[in-house]
Amino acid sequence: MESISCIFCGIDDSFPVIQENGYTGRKCRQCGLIYVSPRPSREDIRNLYEHDGAVTSSHCQFASEHYKRLHARLTLNILRGYASGGKLLEIGPGAGLFMDEARAEGFTPYGVELNLIQADYIRNRWRLPCESRPSSDAYPGESFDVIYHCDVISHLCDPSAEFRIMRERLTPHGVLIFETGNMGDVRPDRLAMVPQFQYPDHLFFFSTRNIESLLQLSGFHPVRQFRFSTVPELLLRQVLSRLKAPSNGPVIAATGAKVAGSSSSALKARLRMFARYRLGACLPIYNHHQTMIVIATPAQ
Ligand SMILES: [Zn+2]
Repeated sequence: MESISCIFCGIDDSFPVIQENGYTGRKCRQCGLIYVSPRPSREDIRNLYEHDGAVTSSHCQFASEHYKRLHARLTLNILRGYASGGKLLEIGPGAGLFMDEARAEGFTPYGVELNLIQADYIRNRWRLPCESRPSSDAYPGESFDVIYHCDVISHLCDPSAEFRIMRERLTPHGVLIFETGNMGDVRPDRLAMVPQFQYPDHLFFFSTRNIESLLQLSGFHPVRQFRFSTVPELLLRQVLSRLKAPSNGPVIAATGAKVAGSSSSALKARLRMFARYRLGACLPIYNHHQTMIVIATPAQ
């Protein structure tokens, strides 16, 4: 375990706001960053992913295919405004559904995924390249027209260093697109709406100001942020989890259950997407939970 200070302010002027799984999330009074301290060592963190020991296991990554494909299409629709094709590197692709959708849209996808089970799945199931090495070492000599990641930066031990590597791996006119939450902006008494913080997978939760600092420190020019309130989706999840209560009805035949499960998961995926990205786009609630899709280009 190692104790750290705020990675942006360089000091520890913080107070505890999250307790989960024996770890404490501390909020920096100066910049809003929430960081886990003390936290596991880098070696322990790497082992966590390589050996599928993270809270979000490969089993979780292979679930919710309907939702992940709809989400990938929404993200690609936004990306289309900034890039029309070329080599796309995804960092932390999970089950590879975004990569598969990106290929259908004319991009040439590559993945880096530390989880060996998921990397293997992407290579075998989608026949797409996926390496289990840090993004600095993967695909030596290659540059990318687009680098994408979703809900990954909270997992990085040293986000500034990783963003500098992304800057180096992009072509001069390349595009960085990523999605992350704004938990550092959220009033501490509203944090309890989140069902699980996934400690210690998540090491940081960022504020809007932190994201701006991160881009500036690593040589990126911020282009645009698309912001969506996640409050409607969080409320929807609370309702759905109540409906999930075990039923005492008759047992459905296995094949029937499979069909029913598939259509209900497609419906849930559409409801979640509607709540998060349609309703969420209309409800900019300040100091409350949001997800943001950020576009940046290399600073010239
Ligand atoms: Zn700070």
